Amino acid sequence: MSTDRVVLVTGGNRGIGRAIAARFVAEGYAVAVTARSGEGPEGALTVRADVTDAESLDRAYAEVEEKLGPVGIVVANAGITKDTLLLRMTEDDFDQVVSTNLGGAFRVVKRAAKGMLKARWGRVILISSVVGLYGSAGQINYSSSKSGLVGFARSLTRELGGRGITANVVAPGFIETDMTAALPEDTQADYKRSIPAGRFATADEVAGVVTWLASDDAAYISGAVIPVDGGLGMGH
Ligand code: NDP
Repeated sequence: MSTDRVVLVTGGNRGIGRAIAARFVAEGYAVAVTARSGEGPEGALTVRADVTDAESLDRAYAEVEEKLGPVGIVVANAGITKDTLLLRMTEDDFDQVVSTNLGGAFRVVKRAAKGMLKARWGRVILISSVVGLYGSAGQINYSSSKSGLVGFARSLTRELGGRGITANVVAPGFIETDMTAALPEDTQADYKRSIPAGRFATADEVAGVVTWLASDDAAYISGAVIPVDGGLGMGH
């Protein structure tokens, strides 16, 4: 399998990451997912890794390279929330979210960059959120980690853009997953009223944008933030 057809998705055992992995499998890519628990979709290789732990990621990455070959496409998707208002937010709440969402992307992309540089080809796709640029009360840790991914992709574009490597951000709005199912029903209804599309999206609607960013058609797109949010974040 050539480098431009081998994909690694972090957090691919459920939610958006799983839908992204399934879509790549359906499009004929060789796909691996990292998971702390459970398995990725049918047809994908599952490797164990915690994105807050560089050693475990390194081991998992080496296993993917050994079984599937050099990885050309990395999707940093694993993420968590620990929502609370600033005055109640502990350092631990802040550190854990930033270390998973932003640090996790740093660790996996750093590991991936070596192979991409060698191949002079790579696609880095970071899963951010509409709240990274829009802001969200109760999510200072989460929104900071998600806007951090924008600076990350743009700096990476400036560092490696001349070597055939692109780095882009996908910023979903509200997607039907465990993360949004955890919101109280009246909060979900409030959100739906504020989304021009009037609904949440399916994870597959995010996945289609990610596979497109990995394709040849997106070769000249880098440092971009692509919203998949039904119009919620317009202008942000
Ligand atoms: P889920 O809560 O459904 O899944 C999160 C995934 O991340 C799981 O696979 C989980 O693994 C993994 N994960 C969390 N922490 C770690 C860790 N330390 N190491 C390895 N894997 C980890 O979330 P979603 O699918 O909803 O979200 C996926 C991404 O999309 C996240 O980055 C999220 O911030 C972003 N997003 C989601 C939106 C939504 O509406 N759902 C909106 C905007 C952005 P495990 O099963 O082991 O916990």
